Amino acid sequence: MPFNGLGLSESIVKAIQELGFTKPTPVQEKTIPLILKGKDIIASAQTGTGKTAAFGLPTLDRLKPGKRIQCLILEPTRELAQQVEEALQDYSKHMDTRVGVVYGGVKYGRQRQMLEKGVDILVATPGRLIDYISQGVISLKKVEVLILDEVDRMLDMGFLPDVSRLIKMCPENRQTLFFSATLPAAIQTMMKWVLKDPEVIEIGRNHVAATTVTHAFYPVAEQQKYNLLIELLTRTHFESVLIFTRTKVNADLISRRLERLNHSVATLHSDRSQGERTAALKGFKSGKFEVLVATDIAARGLDIAGVTHVINYDVPLNAEDYVHRIGRTGRAEKEGDAFTLVTEAEVKNAKSIEHYIGQKIDRTKLEGFDYMYSALFDAEEKQAQRKASSRMYGRLRR
Ligand code: ADP
Ligand code: MG
Repeated sequence: MPFNGLGLSESIVKAIQELGFTKPTPVQEKTIPLILKGKDIIASAQTGTGKTAAFGLPTLDRLKPGKRIQCLILEPTRELAQQVEEALQDYSKHMDTRVGVVYGGVKYGRQRQMLEKGVDILVATPGRLIDYISQGVISLKKVEVLILDEVDRMLDMGFLPDVSRLIKMCPENRQTLFFSATLPAAIQTMMKWVLKDPEVIEIGRNHVAATTVTHAFYPVAEQQKYNLLIELLTRTHFESVLIFTRTKVNADLISRRLERLNHSVATLHSDRSQGERTAALKGFKSGKFEVLVATDIAARGLDIAGVTHVINYDVPLNAEDYVHRIGRTGRAEKEGDAFTLVTEAEVKNAKSIEHYIGQKIDRTKLEGFDYMYSALFDAEEKQAQRKASSRMYGRLRR
């Protein structure tokens, strides 16, 4: 089905065609007609499947510009807030609707001016939004559409109290939309008091990793992790690579080392100033930096076009975070590779990832790399032998 079969107005269809979207993604096809009808929705679909346009397009379509906050979109991180605002600016470029964004970590001046001028749609992170409300700069009394994006992440980050407060400040008579990559139990509890008779749309299984990504585990001894990373970087033809570390300290360390090897590197984690975070992301998106080293703050929802490789320097503790990390590549049906370095201490977490995504990930040895002995290889070897002999045994029995 083409976009103009969904009931969207011409000015929006034109804008999205200019963006090169030819047909709606599954989550868009299911949710757009319902949202246009004013239904409450709870939608889950894997990361990178176009949820922003799924809620953004029909909402833009329904609002009549009036310079009061008619639509509030809550986002868990500053980067996501920026990204969603930019997308809405693109979608609405042939309309008079005004879109604004507020988030913490930057000065109040410009945001306050924008709010005083008036916006129709406000994208916000919870903390800074509450600031403006308590200062009396804005109110949520005219909100007709309330959108909670990346709800699972919002709950993970402990935003439930703030978000609940904000929901209660919106009029009861409103449309409410929940969008999320997964639907953990906590969302279901919230659904009951926040949404009215919602339609639940679930696209795909909850846990699946993007199908356009190839995965590989690289077993390695702890002391050789860094050298293996460098080898991987040297040998792989990547256009842009995102490296995830578990800690901020490791992120800084790797960035500095890569810089010394003349890679163009940016770093993204929560101890960096907002200015630095924005510059890192912008530079990485524009191609100024070929490598971005980040902690999990960058893992959820960020849409970075053309990430060809994700390298997990550390195995994430949460299997779910793995899905989000590698979701930064292979977006919008492009291909991507995800490499994960696995030390002995991390084997358990690596296995729980395989269990979570329901897929075995190949253990890979980098040809010609001068591996130190690691007990991990014995374990893998034994496992392979056991498997081979049980296959034999099976055959003999038959
Ligand atoms: P999600 O929120 O589901 O993780 P996003 O909304 O960030 O995904 O969208 C992922 C990428 O897909 C974005 O670059 C977006 O511009 C692109 N995209 C969205 N809808 C379409 C479509 N119908 N056709 C092509 N690309 C699309
Ligand atoms: Mg999203």
